[in-house]
Amino acid sequence: MSSEFNRRNFLKTIGVAGLGSVLASKAKADSNEPNAAGVKQQSETPQVPTRKFGKSGPDVSALSLGAIQLIDTPVILTSSLKWGVTYWDTAPVYTGGNSETCIGKYFAANPDMRKKVFLATKASGAHDAAGLEEKLQASMKKMNTDYIDVFYGVHGLNDVSQLTDELKTWAENAKKKGLIKYFGFTTHGNMAKSLFEASKLGWVDAILTTYNFRLTKDPMMQKAIDACHKAGIALTAMKTQKSVNVETDEDKKLIEHFSAKGFSEGQAKIKAVMEDERIAAVAVGMNSVALINENVAAMLDKTKLAQDDKDALAEYASATCSGYCAGCAHICDAAVVGVSNINDVMRSLMYHNSYGDTQLAKQTFAAIPADVRARLLTTDYRLAEQRCPQHMPIARLVRQATEILA
Ligand code: SF4
Repeated sequence: MSSEFNRRNFLKTIGVAGLGSVLASKAKADSNEPNAAGVKQQSETPQVPTRKFGKSGPDVSALSLGAIQLIDTPVILTSSLKWGVTYWDTAPVYTGGNSETCIGKYFAANPDMRKKVFLATKASGAHDAAGLEEKLQASMKKMNTDYIDVFYGVHGLNDVSQLTDELKTWAENAKKKGLIKYFGFTTHGNMAKSLFEASKLGWVDAILTTYNFRLTKDPMMQKAIDACHKAGIALTAMKTQKSVNVETDEDKKLIEHFSAKGFSEGQAKIKAVMEDERIAAVAVGMNSVALINENVAAMLDKTKLAQDDKDALAEYASATCSGYCAGCAHICDAAVVGVSNINDVMRSLMYHNSYGDTQLAKQTFAAIPADVRARLLTTDYRLAEQRCPQHMPIARLVRQATEILA
C-alpha cells in the first residue's frame, strides 16, 4: 500500500472523488476495529511527513488537524492518527467548546495516545496572566491532560503590544512548571507586522498565522516569515484553503485546471504553502474522513506544483481578491473613524460564508467591542474601500455581517 502513495500519479490515478471514497471506505473499516488509532495500524499505513517545530522543537506532523469544526465524532481523531496526523489544533471556542470536550473524551478512552499527540490550544478571550491561567487550567481539565504542547496565549493578536511583560512572565513560569511546552500567539490581522516584531522579542516560541497561496507573494509577509524562521519560531499556517463556490467562473476554472492534473484545488493550495520549508505545518479544519483523506493524500504526494499551477493560483487570487480579506487591518483601520475591527468583521463573515459555522461566526462577531459594533452601520467606509488593496466592498460586507451575525 505505501508504495502507491509515492507515485507521481497517485492523485491522478485515484482522482479526487475516487480518492475520497476509496480511502473513506478503508478508514470506515478501520474505525470499526478496536483501538483504531493504535500503533499497529500506523506501522501499516503511510504517515504524513513531519517537520521540525521551530529551531529546537520536536518533529511534528506537517499536516495539523484543525479541530475548528470538531464535534463528538471520534472517527475524525482516529482517522487523523491513522495517517500520522498527530498535531492537533483546537481552542476553547471551537464548536462551542465541543472540540476540546471531544479530544478530552478521546484521551480518557485512549490515555496512551496523549504522548503521541502534539496538542495546541488557545487562551481565547484572555488578556492577562490570570485569564491565561484560567483558560489553561480549563482546557487541560476538559482535554484530560496535565500539559499542553503549544499554548497560544493570545488568540487573534493584531498588535504585538498585546504580548506584555506580564504574559512573558506567566509563560516562563508555566513552562517551568511543565504545564506548557511552547508559548505563542495566533494572528489573522496585521500578520506581517506582528510576525516581524515578534521575531525580535526572544520569548515567542510559536505562531499560528494566516498564510496561504494569496500571501506567498506578499513581500512584507515574506520578510516577516524569514525573520521568524531565523529566530527559530515555529510557524503553523492556517486559512490556507477557503472553500470554493463552484457557481463562479473563477472557481470553475481553478477546479478544472487542477482536476486535469489529478489534484483538487484544495490539495493544490496546501502544496502551495508546504513548498515553503520555513513553515512547520499547515493547520487545516477537517470535519470529515473524506477531507482528511484528501489532505493526507496531498501531503503524501511528492509532486511539486508546476509553473502553470502557480500561475493558475495567482490568476485566481487576482480575479477573486475582492472576496478575500488579507488581514492588513492597519490600512482600513487608519481610514475610518471609531471602528478598528474591520478585519474581524470580515473574518466573522468568512466563518459563516465559507465554513458554514454560524456559531463561531457569531462568537467572533460578538468578541468585537460593543461600542465598535454599535458604530458599524453608521461609519463611512469610502476611504477604507479606496485604500483596501483587495478592493473589498467593505460597507456592503459590514452590512451583511451585521444583518446575519448581530
Ligand atoms: S478590509 Fe481590506 S484593508 Fe481591511 S484588512 Fe481586509 S483586505 Fe486589508
